[in-house]
Amino acid sequence: MALTEAQETLLRGRFEAVVNRVSAACEKAGRPVSSVRLIAVSKYQPAAAVEAVYRLGQRDFGENYVQDLVAKREALRHLPDLRMRFIGRLQRNKARHVVGADCCVDTVDTFSLGAELSKRAVAAGRSVEALVQVNIGCEPQKAGVMPESLSELLAKLRELPNLDVIGLMAIPPKCDDAEESRHCFRALAGLAKQERLVELSMGMSGDLHVAIEEGATMVRVGTAIFGPRPPGHGDTPSAL
Ligand SMILES: *Cc1c(COP(=O)(O)O)cnc(C)c1O
Repeated sequence: MALTEAQETLLRGRFEAVVNRVSAACEKAGRPVSSVRLIAVSKYQPAAAVEAVYRLGQRDFGENYVQDLVAKREALRHLPDLRMRFIGRLQRNKARHVVGADCCVDTVDTFSLGAELSKRAVAAGRSVEALVQVNIGCEPQKAGVMPESLSELLAKLRELPNLDVIGLMAIPPKCDDAEESRHCFRALAGLAKQERLVELSMGMSGDLHVAIEEGATMVRVGTAIFGPRPPGHGDTPSAL
């Protein structure tokens, strides 16, 4: 279903505001705008909304649910350079669908998931780009490898064929003030440097300026671009 003109205007306004925020944060941090990629988180948003934002120049989209990802990938086949990143919790038995959808995976946090992605990538004759998710706040029940186990996990993941681990991703503990996340962003950047990884996916709507100051190369923004998710689909990262 196509968007109405009013919906498109609204999307354009929100998207441009977010792009401007990212540029302003880069400028303030003394970094080139090209060093930070905006990931438009389109979970639960219709394919038409993704296409509308693509037409505004956006190329990288984040998805959290496998079925949704696969359906949108199919619906948007005609957009050649659209890139999708999986940023939700991925069950091993669904890894093949994500590989089939030619999607990057930013939430690898176990060797078994990495091994499954590698196996499926080899079978499909392609490579999968991956980030390792770090539980940077060491919160029980939250996804991500604990910081002290990162080196060991990376060493094993790096042995796997057709899996390219290029960086780290984290969701810091929920807080009201963006400044409170700074130490987490800094810690993640330190780990990436130590492991000689270049990509850092950190920072969302409320704290992307702090994340960019601390070296983020990808920031993930959903509702500030697309507006609220449909009722009943309000899943926030804190629910992960
Ligand atoms: C949903 C989600 C986002 C974006 O959150 P919004 O509140 O929609 O901006 C960012 N990162 C992850 C991992 C998410 O699941």
